[in-house]
Amino acid sequence: MPLMRSWVESANSPDTDFPLNNLPYGVFTRDGAEGRCGVAIGDMILDVTAAEEAEVIYPVRHTTVFDVPHWNAFMELGPDAWAAFRDRLTALLAEGSPDRAAVEPFLVPQAEVQMLMPLAVAEYTDFYAGRHHATNVGTMFRGAENALPPNWLHIPIGYNGRASSVVVSGTDVQRPWGQLKAPDADAPVFAPCKRFDFELEMGAIVGQPSDGMVSVAEADRMIFGYVLLNDWSARDIQAWEYQPLGPFQAKATATTISPWIVTAAALNAFRVDTPERDVQLLPYLRQPGPMLYDIALEVDLAPEGGTATTITRTNYAEMYYSSAQQLAHHTSSGCPMNVGDLLGSGTISGSTKPERGSLLELSWGGKEPLALDGGVTRSFIEDGDTITLRGAAKGDGYRVGFGACSGTVRPAQQKPDWA
Ligand code: MN
Repeated sequence: MPLMRSWVESANSPDTDFPLNNLPYGVFTRDGAEGRCGVAIGDMILDVTAAEEAEVIYPVRHTTVFDVPHWNAFMELGPDAWAAFRDRLTALLAEGSPDRAAVEPFLVPQAEVQMLMPLAVAEYTDFYAGRHHATNVGTMFRGAENALPPNWLHIPIGYNGRASSVVVSGTDVQRPWGQLKAPDADAPVFAPCKRFDFELEMGAIVGQPSDGMVSVAEADRMIFGYVLLNDWSARDIQAWEYQPLGPFQAKATATTISPWIVTAAALNAFRVDTPERDVQLLPYLRQPGPMLYDIALEVDLAPEGGTATTITRTNYAEMYYSSAQQLAHHTSSGCPMNVGDLLGSGTISGSTKPERGSLLELSWGGKEPLALDGGVTRSFIEDGDTITLRGAAKGDGYRVGFGACSGTVRPAQQKPDWA
């Protein structure tokens, strides 16, 4: 599909994340006022809360869905309404639209706003579906022989995370305290995490509820869109706590998402198949078509006051399981899914060293510190470091991008007197 041209001139630049082909959904505020729903177009935002009020565009006539500072009410309307609204937006913003004069007053410069959470996260589940990541981590923790657990090629492994800890890009993250135990120590200590890390992931947003099992095809239709997701991880807390039930406090400090929900519709032109399988999946997990996406991803690390170095370049297409497969598996027990559920893909690493999606892998457990621009090295994140994820599906002369997913790590809080 070629670039679709808009009368918003900045949307026609090959460098913008937000051409007319994209139209991602977010929530913004000006001067700290209540959040408003908006659609990114070039370097502007269409204020759809105001445009709905003025009846310039409305998902449902005589009903308001944008009077709340999140996209959950819109998601509840379902796939037919999602498609109709996107078609209408596309027509209003296309080059030569007869409605330009009616729409233009509702455009706000992105430079003048602050982005908020685009959705109310109902529940958050994080998966472990990248084969290169699972192999790297397994090799470090259990040796190359037993790198992949025996279930890994059969089940998209996951754990239930905390919706309360999901924050939007730009939110500072405080280094956590936790129980740490060095391998050769006799007993654990309670101290600030020394091995704080990021994980490069995509987040899938569930836009329709379920009650009972759903097929992979149905799960694909339930996914409203995607965000970039950084699953901040305390490796030393994780190493001591994770057996036998998996990570708990190591992953509960914060999870950062990018502010724009890029819809599944916008990504449709970039669908790709999952990789070749060593073993056939059980029928309930087989995909009837391509459900991964070709999305180029990168991660920058910038020390406080220093320049940013790109430390990872990889692609979402490296995943072994799609979000649709993960969602279908999630419902297999009868677990009800809700509008606004967030599914982390698992860390996305490619097969080579510069494609690794975490510092744990990039520094190989701290044994091979990473050299950054400016003569700085890193094994794990230090206080003041800013981690920024970026991603885009690349079309011919345009990109369908996500905006930045960024967070700065602040020092751990002072030790409480009871600890
Ligand atoms: Mn993760």
